[in-house]
Formats: sequence, structure tokens, C-alpha cells
Amino acid sequence: MTSSAKKREAIIDDLLNCRLRDARFPAALQATWLDEGVLQLIPEHPTGAVVVSAGIHGNETAPVEMLGALLASLIAGEQPLSQALLLIFGNLPALRAGKRYLHSDMNRLFGGRHRDAAPGNESRRAAQLEKATDAFFQRAGGPRYHLDMHTAIRASRFPQFALIPCHQHSYSKAFYALLEACELDAVVQHTAPGGTFSHYVSETFGAQSCTLELGKALPFGQNDLSRFAATDSAIRALLADKPLSTRTRPPMHFFTVAESIIKTSSGFRLNLDPETENFTRLPAGYVIACEADKTWQVDDAAPWILFPNAGVAPGLRAGLLLKPGCSPQN
Ligand SMILES: [Zn+2]
Repeated sequence: MTSSAKKREAIIDDLLNCRLRDARFPAALQATWLDEGVLQLIPEHPTGAVVVSAGIHGNETAPVEMLGALLASLIAGEQPLSQALLLIFGNLPALRAGKRYLHSDMNRLFGGRHRDAAPGNESRRAAQLEKATDAFFQRAGGPRYHLDMHTAIRASRFPQFALIPCHQHSYSKAFYALLEACELDAVVQHTAPGGTFSHYVSETFGAQSCTLELGKALPFGQNDLSRFAATDSAIRALLADKPLSTRTRPPMHFFTVAESIIKTSSGFRLNLDPETENFTRLPAGYVIACEADKTWQVDDAAPWILFPNAGVAPGLRAGLLLKPGCSPQN
């Protein structure tokens, strides 16, 4: 094992065993733990404010390992920091349990929805993270960025993609350049508000925020972090105000959400093979889902399926149908 992998493993071990607060940082950085697993790092003259979060779903370990490696570099003084940084390890009890969540899906509870949810680990944590991001952005000036890193439940025809929340304020060319440098395959634009962390940070603080899906979820230690190297180096360049690497892959594909399939009762049925990959193109007229008095039929204008999941609780999204989107640069 390389020494950087050892350092990363030690950080994850400290994180899961509540020992991270003992870490010592270079003197030029003002380090404050705003909550368990929520670290604010402020350099002397910050040029902007960046939130990087991982583990909002506890079984999505690759981004947590990436953040662990970033944290190890910051502690060692090997990663220069020009931006104010809020590092968030989202759902620690679920990470320890190796589960997506303990009581409810945290990434549906932001924007105050935690107040209406059954009290539990995730409703408590979503409230804590809202409070921490609020404290951070009150403190930090300049352009605001947020990358909330996830891995998907299922395989995907486009393995790495960004989900941009529905937003009123403009998203900058610099932000899309960052996504390009992450070597993402696709970008999906949401068209309705949601309870995700990235939507909350975008709407509440006017930040350039997105959810990043970086591949399929695997347990700790089984992730091939080289697959996320482009995203890792883009984040490191952003934090250091260094130029981004030039994209080497084909251009990103752009999609827009045309319809959310909302399950309203336990009688809901999804007519899809459980192995169906994200971004699979479905035939026009295909009845993709049904309930007692409603069916969802695929329209030729919006044939791509994303995040099909019949197992969600009633009232939540069981899938998205996508139409072609346009590149914001055009
Ligand atoms: Zn996730």
C-alpha cells in the first residue's frame, strides 16, 4: 500500500472513530470543526468559498475516501488552500453501518423538510448541515461553490455525471469549466425544486452547486480511486486557484428533466428490469410505471430513464425521464 493510501485509510479510521478533531493543520489555516465530520478551513486571504461534501448517503464510500485523501494533504500542508473550505462527511452513523441511511434518505430532507420528517438520525443531521453551511457562508465572501459527491446505486451508460439543481440565479461559465475538467460524461439539469443538499445550497446561498454522481457504490477499500482522479485534481486546482487541466474526453452530454415519476402508493409498479442502467433510452409508448389510477408512458421527446427505484417511500421520486438539454455555453 502506498503511503498516501495509508494516510487516507488512517483519516477514514479516525473519522469513523470520532478522532478527527485531534488533527493539526498548518499555521496559516484557521481550522474549526462546526460539527462532527464538518470542518471549516479558512486561509489568510480567501478568494472564494467552497463546500465539498461526501457521504450524504452512507454506503457511497468512494467520495468519502477522496475527501479523506484531500484532508490528509491539507493536514500535511501538501495541498495549497486559497479558498475558504467547508469539508463535510455527511452521514457518519450510516457510513459506520455501511448503509445508505438509518431512518430516512437524507438527500430528500434539506430545505427544512427535515422538520416534517420522522425524527431520526438523518433529520437531525440535515438540520445540522443546514446550520453549518449557513455559518460558513456568513463568514466567507467571494464566489460560492458546492460539490456534493455521490455514487449511484446502479450502473450507468454515462458513469460520471452532474445534477444541477433547478435555479433562478445564473450559473457561471467557470462552474461548467470545472465540470468539464472533472471529465464528466453528462450534465442533467433539474427543472423542479427538491430536498437535495445541492438544491438547498444553490437556492439558499446563491451558490454554484451540484450533485456529482461518480460511479457505482462499493464498500470501503474496494473503490478504484483512479477513476475519480480528474474530479479530485479539478477540486484541488479550484481550492488552490490553479488552472484546471484540459479535458481529454469527448464533450459532455446535456439533459434536462422532463418528468419526475412520483410514487404515491404502495401499489406502485415499475416495469423495468432491476438491472436497467441509468440513461437507458426507452421506446416511445412504453408503459414504464403504473399505479391504481395512473400510468406513465414514455414520450419520444423524453426517452431516457434516470434513477429508477420502485423501492422509495410513497410520496418520493421513483425515477426521472430526461429530454435533450443544451450546453450552457451555446
Ligand atoms: Zn447518493
